[in-house]
Order: sequence, then structure tokens, then C-alpha cells
Amino acid sequence: MGRHKQHKPRRPQAKREQPTTEWFGTAFHSTEGMYHLDVRQSGNGILITSSPAEMDGVPAAWALRLRNDDNGQGLTDLGAALASGQKHGIGMDEGPGFQTALLFFPDYPEEGIGTLARVRTVDGEDGGTFERRAERPMSLWAEAGENLRRIVPLLGPDAPAADEVEDCRLCPGCYRPVYESAASHTLIGAGPFPVMGLCRLCAEGTTLRSVREADAPIDPQQRAVLETVAAAMG
Ligand SMILES: [Zn+2]
Repeated sequence: MGRHKQHKPRRPQAKREQPTTEWFGTAFHSTEGMYHLDVRQSGNGILITSSPAEMDGVPAAWALRLRNDDNGQGLTDLGAALASGQKHGIGMDEGPGFQTALLFFPDYPEEGIGTLARVRTVDGEDGGTFERRAERPMSLWAEAGENLRRIVPLLGPDAPAADEVEDCRLCPGCYRPVYESAASHTLIGAGPFPVMGLCRLCAEGTTLRSVREADAPIDPQQRAVLETVAAAMG
């Protein structure tokens, strides 16, 4: 995702009203716009959604579901590593001649930025392939890690397995992942086009204010949506 110079991480703005099994944070980047991270309970596991992220080299939202198979130990360890900025790895999949692992690289590709990645390695080959990767300011990973650790004890041993990953749509105003539990069903027909499925922060006008405050760029499509909302709110 290129150079990261002036990250301006912010406190998550929606924390106060969110259920305790969810956390969401955004960093504003001076040249690349908004980076979202969402951590929430998903059945008996945790779902970490990074939007945008890189999936097979293409920008997309990466919804990573981690099962809780060991009384929360593995998830707690991951949370602790993110919170304290330590390198960490979790084996994910193994097949004939290959392995995939979830790896956290602190201060990579540069100081102050951390990378969470699903890396595939092939026997007998050097290095690995980044199948999925998300780069965020270390401070945002730290906050995600603290919240992950906070949520894990709330999972409960008899939570449903939830093998299916919950569907999320991306908010058209900020590309934040919007899960059913957090959706705002705002529909605005007054502008040049209808706007649906906005997250609450965009529907309230908070996103546009934050983007302006941070002087962060956003793509023209997002801007058009946010300005339509602002116009409709008068
Ligand atoms: Zn939004």
C-alpha cells in the first residue's frame, strides 16, 4: 500500500454505544485516506475485518475469522502480541507441500506501521507469498489487540460455532465494514442518487468532519456520497 508518512490514528468514535463484543477503529492517512479495523465476536470465535486490505494483490475488505479452539488462549496471545507490538504467528492451514500462517509483523514495512498477513509458504522455496495483508499504524493494532483481549473472555464456551463468516457490506461513504448488528438503514433520496447502507458515522456526518479535520484524501465516489448526506442533512 505504498508509503505511510503521516498516520493520524484516532480514538474510535463509536465505542461508547457499541455492544461490548465489538470494537472499531479508523486511522486517517494524509495521502491514502481511511484505514478501518473492526474486531468482533463471531460465534465462538473472533472476526477481524480490515478494510481496505490487499487480497491476492487487489484492494478489498479482508474478513478474517479465527476460531476459539483452546479456551481463548490462542486469541489472547494474538491480542497480547498486537497490543504490545510483538511479532506473532499462528499456523492456519497445511496441505501437501505447503503451509499457510497468520503472521503479525511489527514495524513492517516501516517503523510505526505493522502488517497482519496470511502468508503461504511452499516446501523447498525461500520466502512466502502474502495472500492477504493489511497495514495499519502500530497504535491502531495495539488498540485492536487490547479490545481483542477484552472480548475473548466474553465469548463463552457454549457460543455457537458460526462456521459461516457473517456477511458484511462496505459503507459507501467510508468503506467501513458494516455488519448487520451495526448497520444504519439510512436511505436518503434527496440527493442526486439514493444512498443506502451507510454506517452510523457517515449517516451522522461524523466521517466527513473527521476527513476534513485530518485533511485526509478520499476517493471521488466516497466524497460524492458524503456530500450528498451533508446536503440532505442541511
Ligand atoms: Zn461509513
